[in-house]
Formats: sequence, C-alpha cells, structure tokens
Amino acid sequence: MKVTRVAQYGLQLTRLNFVNCYLVREDDGYTLVDAGLKGSEDEILKAAGNIPIKRILLTHPHVDHLGSVDALIARIPGVILGASERSIPLMQIPPDLSLRSGEVGKIAGGVPGIKAKPSLVIQAGDRIGSLLAIDTPGHIHGHLSFLDERDGTLYAGDALFCLGFVAVASWTPWWFPLKVYSSRAQAKESAIRLLEYPMQRFACGHGKVRGGGRAALEEAIARAKL
Ligand SMILES: [Zn+2]
Repeated sequence: MKVTRVAQYGLQLTRLNFVNCYLVREDDGYTLVDAGLKGSEDEILKAAGNIPIKRILLTHPHVDHLGSVDALIARIPGVILGASERSIPLMQIPPDLSLRSGEVGKIAGGVPGIKAKPSLVIQAGDRIGSLLAIDTPGHIHGHLSFLDERDGTLYAGDALFCLGFVAVASWTPWWFPLKVYSSRAQAKESAIRLLEYPMQRFACGHGKVRGGGRAALEEAIARAKL
C-alpha cells in the first residue's frame, strides 16, 4: 500500500492506486476510517507500526471499504467497530437490502457483509475522538463522512470523489468507473449539507487528497446539475 501523509494527523493508505483508507492519529492511538479491500490487513497494520489501532469507523459497507474488517478484528484485540445504524443490516451475511420507509432508489453496489457486528452505532453529530460524524447519504443509504475538526480534513468515503477536482458522488465524469449510487439527488443534497462545516481538504475513498476547501466543494456542487 502506498502511504501518503494527510495534513497533520492523517495517513492515506492506497491499494491498487485507487482504493483508499485512512489512519487518523488520536491521543490514544489510531482511528482507521474504512478498511479497504479484502487482504489489506497486513499492510494496514504495517502502516500503523507501533501505534495501536483503537477504532475502525466505516463510512459505508461497500466491498472496497469493509473488505479487511474481519481480518483486522481478529488481529487487534478490543478494537471498536463503528458504523451507522442504517448500515448494520447491509453489513450482515447475507445483507438485508430492503429499503426503509421514506428511502428512495435502491441499495446499489457490492455489499458482501462481514461476520463482525458493530460495537459502536454512530449517529450523525456524534464525535468519535476528533472526528465529527456527518450524515451523507446518496452513494448509499446510511453513508457517513467524518470531519477532523482539528485540521478541517473531511474523510468523505464515497460521498465525494477526489479526481483532478472534487466531484459529488454519482455526478462524476463519463470516464470515471464508479457509477454506483442509491440516489443522485440525495448525493447532491449531502454535498450541500457539507457546506455548513468548515473544511480545508477532502480525503476520499478514491483518488488523491484534494485541497481547496469550501470553494472546491461549491464547484463540485455546481457541476452536479440535475
Ligand atoms: Zn468505494
């Protein structure tokens, strides 16, 4: 895995040049945001080195974000697994893909499920260490993003994509391969909601970390034309 520093507190871990997860430094160790593809555990643990991974927080349960969760939990005694309440049925084996009342679209994308059950159910507005959980559905129902309030880094999962510019999920250019989404309109609404928060940079599930703060997000929203 390629390891790239993100501002003061983060490390971006990249597999196959395309799939990111992140180690975020806290006083007691690391929080891992997403867990990459299956088979990433050795390299995630190597990147953490002597610093313990205390928590794994999932932005959403797609295959490229929770692939190594079970293997990591087997290797890290006492690690906390956090996910949104809406994600929990999607993390079962087999997943429960039924929609809840009021939800639109469908559950799109690969949700293979994991054996582990979350020990921390995250609500929007919760603070987990330095990370503020923000509700960002659209790519998939129950998607969360995490804002590090110390340095304004938004760990956006797939609410946003980091191309040569920031793009709202499902509003990516024709050449971008990940077209999966539950609701394009909700993805845009989520991006608009993110404008309420002070952010400096975007650390996405895919692509290099992008700066540009609010202006970059405003441009991404402007490109997402219904
Ligand atoms: Zn993804």
